[in-house]
Amino acid sequence: MIKIGITGGIGSGKSTVCRVFSLLGVAVYDSDSQARRLMESDREVVRRIETLFGEGVYRDGMLDRKALSGKIFGDSSLREKLNAIVHPAVEADFLRWAERQQGPYVLEEAAILFESGAWRRMDAVVTVTAPEAVRIRRACLRDRCDEAAVRARMAAQIDERERIARADYVIRNDGREPVIARILELHEIFSRL
Ligand code: ADP
Repeated sequence: MIKIGITGGIGSGKSTVCRVFSLLGVAVYDSDSQARRLMESDREVVRRIETLFGEGVYRDGMLDRKALSGKIFGDSSLREKLNAIVHPAVEADFLRWAERQQGPYVLEEAAILFESGAWRRMDAVVTVTAPEAVRIRRACLRDRCDEAAVRARMAAQIDERERIARADYVIRNDGREPVIARILELHEIFSRL
């Protein structure tokens, strides 16, 4: 199965773009929500998280995300250890999932496609981009939070220029360029890979 990775900064519109691909019949794997699912349902992942953080991070089988974020906040080594548990589990789950899908290609949507190393297993990578002011406005409206909170989340991600430079294809979702036409164009290209 041909695998296309799709990424973009917060508020770039990658989830919106993925919804259009899915309307075209393309199967989309949402890494964020799948990672959250695996952190509660994959026994090996749960066991390793408990070993790392203590059994208190789960309550009635539910992960206490607030407690977990509190523990990794400002502790990059602990965050890396958590990533080393979750990222390979998502990778394995995505590959199993991809083989069960129909169609000429599948999409993996991941905000941290480059940071996690997931880009390495893709046949091509797409970056969805929009100017910073547009991304901030969209994220503020969507998440009902202020600019400082959005900027703090942006600061934890790689630089937009790097995300564009490392992509094979770019979708400009600035509200001006015809984004649907670009999606249809890429759909044609990916269908023939
Ligand atoms: P991301 O997944 O990259 O964080 P989303 O797809 O959730 O971004 O988009 C962020 C917000 O901006 C959403 O509320 C979405 O509806 C809106 N949005 C995305 N693209 C556009 C666009 N081209 N025009 C107007 N609003 C958009």
